[in-house]
Amino acid sequence: MTQNVAPIPFLDLKAQQARIAADLRRRIDAVLAHCQFILGPEVTELENELARFCGASHCVSISSGTDALQIALMAEGIGRGDAVFLPAFTYTATAEVPLVLGATPVFVDVDPATFQIDPAALEARIAAVKAAGKLRPRALIGVDLFGQPADWPALNAIAAAHGLFTLDDCAQSFGARHHGRPLGSAADATATSFFPSKPLGAYGDGGALFTESAERAALYRSLRTHGEGTTRYEVLRTGMNGRLDSLQAAVLLSKLTVFPEELAAREAIAAHYDRRLGNAVTIPARVPDSTSAWAIYAILLKPGTRDAVQATLKEAGVPSAIYYPRPLHRQPAYRDHHDGAALPVSDDLAERILALPIHPDLDPAQLDRICDAVLAAVG
Ligand SMILES: *Cc1c(COP(=O)(O)O)cnc(C)c1O
Repeated sequence: MTQNVAPIPFLDLKAQQARIAADLRRRIDAVLAHCQFILGPEVTELENELARFCGASHCVSISSGTDALQIALMAEGIGRGDAVFLPAFTYTATAEVPLVLGATPVFVDVDPATFQIDPAALEARIAAVKAAGKLRPRALIGVDLFGQPADWPALNAIAAAHGLFTLDDCAQSFGARHHGRPLGSAADATATSFFPSKPLGAYGDGGALFTESAERAALYRSLRTHGEGTTRYEVLRTGMNGRLDSLQAAVLLSKLTVFPEELAAREAIAAHYDRRLGNAVTIPARVPDSTSAWAIYAILLKPGTRDAVQATLKEAGVPSAIYYPRPLHRQPAYRDHHDGAALPVSDDLAERILALPIHPDLDPAQLDRICDAVLAAVG
């Protein structure tokens, strides 16, 4: 493999910007003209468009995905003494939020094929927490990992049996569908993120909450503005500064116009990877009856080979990334909150997983170069 070709970017936001340049400029100019930078008209328009896109009754835009998760738990009054069940194999924010509120994350193992939180493991962890008698089981944060949906029918049944509030951490998977319906109303509340590298990304931080409950939506609106009441200087509860700004909403409205075709482009890239790499590495198993937003396309390598494979890819100008090199129960900040239960699947995935570039502007020549390099590296 020669080094005289330019490295492929892991994510190419410049190419995407060029595709939407005129529309983006028009929307940004409109914000600069009206100067309502926080909760301006673009924010309301975006909330309406997002709710329509995913078929949810209510959308409340938030300053980030992390803040959206936090506001959803604050609205339920979750705090000290409460157990919040969540997968061990996810981004750090999922576990950080219950801890910030004084609650305890209870890490649950994931499915070895789909990487999604394992419903049977969840049942066992709830039983263990109940038996120990120290924490009150209160909530489940199910994560739709890498673009695919978690097994919400099974998770909801377990949550209902134990009276848990269900929060869908859909930060990576907005735009995915499950049993024919877009994600957004699979749980009591759904949080998503518009961090620039997510499938629908802003040009800064952003997020949103979706719910079917008018009461919850009203609480989310109050909490994102310092707990305000019906008049601006009436403070009903302790909230936070969790608002989305109009420039981010303008960018997202522009990106939403091309989002469906981008999802289709990501799907085609995933299918191409499957065809070319399926005999050489473990390709991602699909959650039945679903479509993925393909935030991440992750392969599994043979134990002990990842460092060498990654180095060989790098030499060929092919970037790769590790989501996640350490499961959350092994993070210094969280391990003291872990009860010591074994989470072998999360441990194994952390050793063997490798993410390949997947974004709508990856061209066929780049895609073939990536596949050639992976085949040579694992050969
Ligand atoms: C990105 C992400 C978040 C946090 O979203 P931010 O907008 O970056 O705060 C939360 N959960 C998961 C699973 C994520 O991937």
